[in-house]
Amino acid sequence: KRNVLIIGAGGVAHVAAHKCAQNNILLGDIHIASRTLSKCQAIIASIKQKGSQCGPGRLQAHALDAMDVEATKALIRATKSQIVINVGSPFLNMSVLAACIETGAAYLDTAIHEDPDKVCEAPPWYENHEWKRREACRQAGVTAILGVGFDPGVVNAYGRYALDTYFDSVDSIDIIDINAGGHGRYFATNFDPEINFREFTSTVWSWEKSQWKANAMFERSQDWDMPVVGTNTTYLTGHDELHSMSKNLGVPNIRFWMGFGDHYINVFTVLKNLGLLSEKPVRTAEGLEVVPLKVVKAVLPDPASLAPNYTGKTCIGDLVKGKKNGKPHEVLIYNICDHEQSYAEVGSQAISYTAGVPVVAAAMLIADGAWDIRRMANVEELDPKPFIELMNRIGLVTRIRDSRGDRVLQPHDESA
Ligand code: NDP
Repeated sequence: KRNVLIIGAGGVAHVAAHKCAQNNILLGDIHIASRTLSKCQAIIASIKQKGSQCGPGRLQAHALDAMDVEATKALIRATKSQIVINVGSPFLNMSVLAACIETGAAYLDTAIHEDPDKVCEAPPWYENHEWKRREACRQAGVTAILGVGFDPGVVNAYGRYALDTYFDSVDSIDIIDINAGGHGRYFATNFDPEINFREFTSTVWSWEKSQWKANAMFERSQDWDMPVVGTNTTYLTGHDELHSMSKNLGVPNIRFWMGFGDHYINVFTVLKNLGLLSEKPVRTAEGLEVVPLKVVKAVLPDPASLAPNYTGKTCIGDLVKGKKNGKPHEVLIYNICDHEQSYAEVGSQAISYTAGVPVVAAAMLIADGAWDIRRMANVEELDPKPFIELMNRIGLVTRIRDSRGDRVLQPHDESA
């Protein structure tokens, strides 16, 4: 049994805490720490209300500024936590990782580190921050698994699994992320607007012909016919997983495509062109200094408030193309997640659900030893089979569509 410390009390933390509670026998005590204590307490109340805690582990809320490495170390020690699930904002990664390296706790996160002062970094970003601590993790014998949400995370495992199982050589991996759900509001982001807009205001990097290619957001589009959600228009988007998969998989083309409706693009374009997505302060005629992006965030719906009315499904997967026995071959490995079912189960929408389940699956694989690697790794460096199998059991079912049809992917039943 390993005690778990969850850092952050947002949408993903909410799902992660519920899933840890459902798997409490393996994971032990569950501690939730964030800047705002009441948000941690609300998550605990929601777990108790759903009655999902199995096993005797304690559930406890803590106030913590996770930028403070000493305070984080003290909390890890006081709670005897052996696994830290960092699902706070991506600005916290390097501080929380430092606290883990210094206390020996395993470290998990779901997003690449971001520097609040830099909107666009040079790829591959992992080299700018996390990978600099790789040697320190190895020396301390600390397990650190980076980017283990859905994308990044599960899609990295899908890429690795496809490579290992179905191909002699892979030419391209297209990661396709479609949210075909609706929340009924005029305009809203599914997670923190500041983080969400940063993803779309900076340069779009993709890995093409084994080098980085720069595009502008919404410059390249592609329609895909996806299972359940049908044909959707997607746009080339920069994403964390490209930075590690380009280094670790030896595949010449890796791209990320995200689905957007025309309405989202219109509103986004107006906000951007008016300067309302800027992080640079402006002064009003009355002498008031405001950051436009913060004002936009303040007037948009709180992403967590969307969950009760969210309907429809997400479809996220990897379309992998290459050669098998000298012939062209392709597979689509994907997951479908239902917003309403996620809400009924844990009180969250599917975007948070698809990120929160994998990070807990990874914690369980550390606890049972399968992924307790005592070094730093991105998900595509690890054996994807136990991960996919465990997620099939705890809420995220993987499917495959290929020339043999469409079926649930049971890694041990598959053959090339
Ligand atoms: P939210 O914005 O809902 O929550 C972030 C939480 O971080 C808040 O509870 C906030 O605390 C807390 N926080 C911020 N600064 C500090 C600090 N200094 N000390 C302690 N806590 C702090 O985010 P989400 O839950 O939507 O996302 C969490 C992470 O997951 C993000 O990194 C996001 O990029 C990532 N993500 C990954 C996905 C994937 O598939 N890989 C998908 C979706 C998200 P408070 O509110 O108490 O101030």
